[in-house]
Amino acid sequence: MTATTPISATLIDGKAFAADLRARIATQVRSMKDNGITPGLAVVLVGEDPASQVYVKSKGRMTREVGMNSYEHRLPAETSQDDLLALIGRLNDDPDVNGILVQLPLPPHMDEAAVINAIDPAKDVDGFHILNVGRLATGQKAMVPCTPLGCLMLLRDRLGSLSGKNALVIGRSNIVGKPMAQLLLRDSATVTVAHSRTANLPDLCRQADIVVAAVGRANFVQGDWIKPGATVIDVGINRGDDGLVGDVDFDAAARVAGAITPVPGGVGPMTIACLLANTLTATARANGLPDPQGLTP
Ligand code: NDP
Repeated sequence: MTATTPISATLIDGKAFAADLRARIATQVRSMKDNGITPGLAVVLVGEDPASQVYVKSKGRMTREVGMNSYEHRLPAETSQDDLLALIGRLNDDPDVNGILVQLPLPPHMDEAAVINAIDPAKDVDGFHILNVGRLATGQKAMVPCTPLGCLMLLRDRLGSLSGKNALVIGRSNIVGKPMAQLLLRDSATVTVAHSRTANLPDLCRQADIVVAAVGRANFVQGDWIKPGATVIDVGINRGDDGLVGDVDFDAAARVAGAITPVPGGVGPMTIACLLANTLTATARANGLPDPQGLTP
């Protein structure tokens, strides 16, 4: 493959998919409201991390756009862990709040696991609570982390069944890599999880029908690592001089892959849409209603 080889991969348009998902969520929110139920999502931000502030702002806007109530709690960076836990306790007890998201990362003086595990698992729309992690791993009904859930939706939409496909997940973080591997396994893919100590990563990649890259290194996955026709999901968000780039060398990979997500406009928009889907699901469960159709696996 050279730079003159035409791009052959289908572009997986996460932006359009997410817009459609949000429209379907808005329809279901309207019918809930007709029955006197308005889903509510509380987002807690501690400190002034600029990227987190942008995320929290767009989460609030999109929550309101689908007709849900949005509750934002902005706390100073020096907030004590006890005060944060007290706020989480109040949100757990508040019947108007169906979903709680504590924006990560937290300031260094806080114990992230203790904070996440203080959230009522039924309201844990990020799916990071130890109980939801365990439920996902054991095939029980769980709140599923938003970014991997979005990736799964895009993969199913593109490929239909994932059964028997060779899937390589690059990255083993608790928020992307590990839950992604669990979801692929649940869909009967044959899953390999790679990380910084993995040997022969390019060779592993060349055997993969599905590649999910969640590394956090710009253009890390090379075009000649991609199996012809493979489906490539690029989770990476790397800010450089040229704006946002993914973890995959898009120009080279798109000449070999069968389908690929762009950055931006691929996985990113799916994450917030899945957060709203999880909030709708949490609201339905809290009110004894069946899970909304077509939103969660
Ligand atoms: P982490 O830093 O937590 O994890 C990165 C993973 O990549 C680790 O498991 C690490 O391995 C692995 N890794 C690092 N270097 C290599 C290497 N040379 N070869 C193979 N594996 C390597 O990142 P996150 O999972 O939180 O995020 C990953 C990317 O996804 C980031 O760019 C982030 O911004 C983006 N992201 C995007 C979201 C979205 O909505 N689109 C949401 C969340 C994240 P090891 O464990 O051995 O250190």
